Amino acid sequence: MSSRVLSEFLTTNLEDLKSKGLYNVIDPLESPNGPLIKIAGKEFINLSSNNYLGLATDRRLKEAAKAAIEEFGVGAGAVRTINGTLKLHLQLEEKLAAFKHTEAAIAYQSGFNCNMAAISAVMDKEDAILSDELNHASIIDGCRLSRAKIIPFKHLDMSDLQRKAQEAKQSGNYNKLMVITDGVFSMDGDIAKLPDMVEIAEKLDLITYVDDAHGSGVLGNGAGTVKHFGLSDKIDFQIGTLSKALGVVGGYVAGRKELIDWLKVRSRPFLFSTALTPADTAACLTAVDILMNSTELQERLWANGNYLKQGLKALGFNIGSSQTPITPCIIGEEKQTQKFSQRLYEEGVYAKAIVFPTVPKGTGRVRNMPTAAHTREMLDQALSVYAKVGRELGIL
Ligand code: PMP
Repeated sequence: MSSRVLSEFLTTNLEDLKSKGLYNVIDPLESPNGPLIKIAGKEFINLSSNNYLGLATDRRLKEAAKAAIEEFGVGAGAVRTINGTLKLHLQLEEKLAAFKHTEAAIAYQSGFNCNMAAISAVMDKEDAILSDELNHASIIDGCRLSRAKIIPFKHLDMSDLQRKAQEAKQSGNYNKLMVITDGVFSMDGDIAKLPDMVEIAEKLDLITYVDDAHGSGVLGNGAGTVKHFGLSDKIDFQIGTLSKALGVVGGYVAGRKELIDWLKVRSRPFLFSTALTPADTAACLTAVDILMNSTELQERLWANGNYLKQGLKALGFNIGSSQTPITPCIIGEEKQTQKFSQRLYEEGVYAKAIVFPTVPKGTGRVRNMPTAAHTREMLDQALSVYAKVGRELGIL
């Protein structure tokens, strides 16, 4: 017999979400997550994945994964510190450090885990963290887990950061101060102002932390936002995921050797959660190799991103202030945004509506994630559907 309190809690809250249109409906894919996907027997142009470079279905990564399964099996068998560290993990970490131009790197099972791991390994309740108000949920949760005081600053507002950091410093209430930001913000595609942030951090002795989940593989010839600004030796923590541009799963922290040593002895997902699988690790190694040896995929990604942006803008859509291939199409009102996305779906374009509370009220958007794997024909087809649905709903 299950708990009555739990049943009441679940029923009330699920009904509440459904009545507000905030209940996530999940569409299972019947195909790989490529530029075209199949759902319920129907094909869609996919503008919703983070598979920026198309590597999730890349033949070279699949071959590497298969070979690793043959050599090492399907599981690592233990947490890293017991005997779950395979030589593949060390090779991947070495390669990630080279990729990010840092002394060392440590791999985790997901990008989410990185933020759970890294922030609380260094920060505690005697400390404070200055955090961009639009930082990703995993950063927010990682900050909470550390029990440090969280001081949000206005999105990309470096004067607000400077003022709040100075106040925190002068208060004398905290041992350590950290500033933490996404490199690229996934809802708008805008980029953190890292040069200004570093200047403030140097003046006030702030620890610097950049989660570059959406910048790695995309900016800085693939090496990410920090490299894009030439700041590789100025950022203490560079976080990346292996699940977006790199196409697989996992995450990593890159930084100086001492920091990585510390994370290896103090970060809980490294100590208490089983290591990345051999297949994932080998596929990631191949993905990093590809990125380090060629910029062809980034060039295709940017060309496709620019093409889609220009096309949507020419049609008269509000595409916000993206500085990267992420292309929001801002509709505004929540219900209208959901309807817009639903009509795109019916017309064969898979582009998810993103509404409050993920983005501020009244800024509902359909977010487009073009990839290197899309063809011009696919993008043209998507644009003609956008035009049709935009006119039909009175948006254009
Ligand atoms: N950080 C940021 C900024 C992200 O956007 C995401 C993914 N949405 C993550 C971390 C989590 O990464 P992963 O999916 O690899 O767990």
